[in-house]
Amino acid sequence: MREQLEQMRQQAIAAIAAATSEEVLNEIRVRFLGRKGELTGLMKGLGSLPADERPKVGQLVNVVKEGLEEAVELALTAARKAATDQRLATERIDVTLPGRQRRLGSKHPVTLVVEEVSDIFAGLGFSVAEGPEIEHDWYNFEALNFPPEHPARDMQDTFFVENQLLLRTHTSPVQIRTMLKQKPPVRIIAPGTVYRCDSDATHSPMFHQIEGLMVDTRVSFADLKGILTIFTNQLFGQKTGVRLRPSFFPFTEPSAEVDIACVICGGSGCRVCKQTGWLEILGAGMVDPEVFRHVGYDAEQFSGFAFGMGIERIAMLKYGISDMRLLFENDVRFLAQF
Ligand SMILES: [Zn+2]
Repeated sequence: MREQLEQMRQQAIAAIAAATSEEVLNEIRVRFLGRKGELTGLMKGLGSLPADERPKVGQLVNVVKEGLEEAVELALTAARKAATDQRLATERIDVTLPGRQRRLGSKHPVTLVVEEVSDIFAGLGFSVAEGPEIEHDWYNFEALNFPPEHPARDMQDTFFVENQLLLRTHTSPVQIRTMLKQKPPVRIIAPGTVYRCDSDATHSPMFHQIEGLMVDTRVSFADLKGILTIFTNQLFGQKTGVRLRPSFFPFTEPSAEVDIACVICGGSGCRVCKQTGWLEILGAGMVDPEVFRHVGYDAEQFSGFAFGMGIERIAMLKYGISDMRLLFENDVRFLAQF
């Protein structure tokens, strides 16, 4: 057995000496030292030796094993260094080659509109307020004068989470949160994502709104019309008239739909405005005293107006986009145009 061991050792040393690559050395390691390798095979013979010989031969096996492991490690290190030297000697990096350019993205049209609207209202003294997208029923509906079972809730069917939590259907709950936190005067706009159970060419289950709220002593409907006229003229870059039509919202009284003269035809009638010459762009009204009651404002002392608009609708009009779904398909060819 000692002889077999010595023979195997010499074979292994010869093989290691002849090997030039990492790959071959790894094969040699497996062949001699692996779990099913030659050394393990030899060790099976230990059991048949006389009892007093076993420890000595066992010790010898360990010495051979350690010696071979060390020899393989040394050869591996040398082989790796040789491979690196070889690469360094033959490969050349051309530092004069032009770098790979990463294409810069562009802002999404929805972001562009939010920024522009926020800028215009900042100029009018409005600051930006935010609220959670997962909202409590009380803020989203009840405090805004949508009592439970009220039919107006049907127009804003949404996704319910649990325990009266839902995905907010409008940015109007930010009005409530703001008024609960501060006393008048209030001048805020609240841009954000909202959710409803709608999906077609002009509706998406997820879309964006900007809410506006102004509360102070003696705020009138004339102030509302004045602010919105300044806003729409700046946004669409023209001196267009603003038209208010009576409407209904639970949280404003009186309420109005706000139209601007068609930005496509200038008012003479076209396909976009359905030949009316007017485009509906937002809803507005005077804050309902019931809403003030919910937030603890004195409706005798204070008055205010609120308005809300769909950002996608504004982006579609401003940039001539025909289908709302284009805004959310994330097609770079589309988005790169803005
Ligand atoms: Zn038109």
